[in-house]
Amino acid sequence: MALTGLEIFKHLPKTNCGECGFPTCLAFAMQLAAKKAALDKCPYVSDEAKSALDAAAAPPIRLITVGVKKPFQTGNETVMFRHEETFHRPTGIAVTVSDAAPEDEIAARAGRIAGLSFERVGMQIGVNLTAVRNDSGDPAKFAAAVKKVMEVSQLPIVLTAGDPAAMERALEVCKEDKPLIHGATAATLDAMCALAKASSCPLTVSGGSLDDLAALARDAAAKGVQDVVLDPGPRGMNELLRDVTQSRRLALKKNYRPLGYPFIITAAESDPVMEMVEVGVFIAKYGGIVVTNAIEKWQMLPLLTLRQNVFTDPRKPIMVEPKLNKVGEPGRDAPVLVTTNFSLTYFVVEGEVEASKVPSYLISVDTEGLSVLTAWAAEKFTPESIKKALESSGVSDLVDHKKFVIPGYVAVMSGELEEETGREVLVGPREASGISTYLKTVWKA
Ligand code: SF4
Repeated sequence: MALTGLEIFKHLPKTNCGECGFPTCLAFAMQLAAKKAALDKCPYVSDEAKSALDAAAAPPIRLITVGVKKPFQTGNETVMFRHEETFHRPTGIAVTVSDAAPEDEIAARAGRIAGLSFERVGMQIGVNLTAVRNDSGDPAKFAAAVKKVMEVSQLPIVLTAGDPAAMERALEVCKEDKPLIHGATAATLDAMCALAKASSCPLTVSGGSLDDLAALARDAAAKGVQDVVLDPGPRGMNELLRDVTQSRRLALKKNYRPLGYPFIITAAESDPVMEMVEVGVFIAKYGGIVVTNAIEKWQMLPLLTLRQNVFTDPRKPIMVEPKLNKVGEPGRDAPVLVTTNFSLTYFVVEGEVEASKVPSYLISVDTEGLSVLTAWAAEKFTPESIKKALESSGVSDLVDHKKFVIPGYVAVMSGELEEETGREVLVGPREASGISTYLKTVWKA
């Protein structure tokens, strides 16, 4: 756990000299605790205090970076539950490629993995890593597969091999791209740590229990490998969930450093639907990286959607830019609709307008990312804000009529809105699903 201001204060000189830019040491300590100041602003902190505060200032779960061209980061999480603050780093999804497959299949699969990317509510969501597995047991084949994957994909690589000789061959091909070395066990820790250290790549340690993992992580750190990812290995979903939860609790609440690393989980379910469930569980609960065989779009889109929802910052509504938007190629008789700039609302409405095939103007009003009813209740979606949006959009110059459509949920403001804007207000459907029919029937009429 992070230190409080008072705990930090105990380590400061307490002379209140003010050289740090704050009037007292206590004020400085409070700013340090809030991460609004840096310790080096105080020139009088003793070395002993520095090391105590530096250790305390380290994040409870270490930040690990994999890859260079499209780096993926995991760790630095600070809370058990999203509503306490936010989850900072979305779970990385790694899709497997086997080195036992023929070369052209390896290339095709790596290309498909790199292409698993979708646009949703204005954001790009996709797979983060390619996990190349040494199923063949042949170091040369493993290195060749990694090379092939790198030719077609820029995604960071997870190298999965239990044999240090195979890992060494693969690293010769890709160490500049800082892959994740996945496969160190108690038996291979020395050799794998040497490889990780020489290549400056992060390393996973695999163990049977949390105690084993903590011991391996401690040993790896002692051998000079600080960037560690914990791999609890294959076991039942319940047991895995219990262990990753307990580990996160120990890291965050007890500041237990040997478990202060992200987890990599390999989905073990053979049934494709159950595999999705397993991946989903560890997206929701504490997976740093989840490795899966799932490569079909119907499998990946729901998982990425789930991840997007879990890792959206609950403190910041996701919103689109407030402006005039065109759907299709609207003419001078095109309908004008207004909605809020809350992303989910906006994209649902835009999708329905698009589906109606009636080219339209759609104005997203600045409601600070609130949805229609919430914005109305919070007085962000008002006759005044809608009038302002209409005027700044310049839509009057683009159409010959003076009508616009408001969401049915705010029908109550239609009279006041007509007075405010001097335009005819049409009350649209309450639900976005009714927009298509509305535009094709009521608007046309
Ligand atoms: Fe205290 Fe150091 Fe700031 Fe001086 S510079 S007030 S000693 S924290």
